[in-house]
Amino acid sequence: MPMTESPKQLCGSCPSAENKNTIEFWCFDCSESICIECKEKHFGKFHVIIPMSEAGKVDKSVITGPCTCTDKCSQNSYLHCKSHDKIYCKLCAPSIHKSCSDVQSIANAATGCQHRTSVLITDLELRLGNLKTNYLQLIEEQELNLTDLNFQKYQIKAQVCDFRKDMNEYLNELEDKIGNQLDRYYEQCRAQISKNIQAILERCNMLSLLENTLHLLITNSSECRTFIAAKNIDRKQCEEESVFETFEDFLKLFKLSFLKEETNDINKKFLRHWERLSLK
Ligand SMILES: [Zn+2]
Ligand SMILES: [Zn+2]
Ligand SMILES: [Zn+2]
Ligand SMILES: [Zn+2]
Repeated sequence: MPMTESPKQLCGSCPSAENKNTIEFWCFDCSESICIECKEKHFGKFHVIIPMSEAGKVDKSVITGPCTCTDKCSQNSYLHCKSHDKIYCKLCAPSIHKSCSDVQSIANAATGCQHRTSVLITDLELRLGNLKTNYLQLIEEQELNLTDLNFQKYQIKAQVCDFRKDMNEYLNELEDKIGNQLDRYYEQCRAQISKNIQAILERCNMLSLLENTLHLLITNSSECRTFIAAKNIDRKQCEEESVFETFEDFLKLFKLSFLKEETNDINKKFLRHWERLSLK
């Protein structure tokens, strides 16, 4: 029968089938709920009787024993072996106590155990209390650990946030710095290229002048004059060929370059050691 049985249920032990009383107690030895009248019969057999309301608060496993042969054995047959510090039933005695001599009846051994000076009980109560305190301390430690973890979590989040701000600032500065440097490089190149174009234009103008001169002489002058001029222009043109070659060598094409694209991956890899979050 379950211990949670409603107190209004009727006693199954009452002899009269018509006149059953309401159950009020629980007998551990018989594992049944009983009425106040039937209680006396169980008491007579040294059974453990407690109010129904208390039944749920008791560990049944420690109340019964030492043997399970409740039909033929009663507490009258229980003995206490001092050598082994064990209670046993003499009717179904374990062979371990066969040669034990320091043995007394359970009644003798139990005498005074409920008195407040009983070492057995006071020591047991103390040890139960201490152990429970130790367990409660473990709970406290676990809860403290949770508080610490929460603090650590926010600390690390703040650390990551600060690092990110630092990196943002650093990258902003870097972007400005690179931008300014690019502006300066471009300005240098622009000045140089303007100078180059100016120098090239001077050569072109000089060649245009020679072209015009030759054309004017062909249309307006004598063959003799044209011949002399053509020979001079020919010499100048030859000189200009070698000037052009030096120009070609001298003029270099500028090129701005930055990191190769795979460098971005390397930068990300560098940041990856930030992912090494550990739980110990
Ligand atoms: Zn009854
Ligand atoms: Zn009983
Ligand atoms: Zn027994
Ligand atoms: Zn023994």
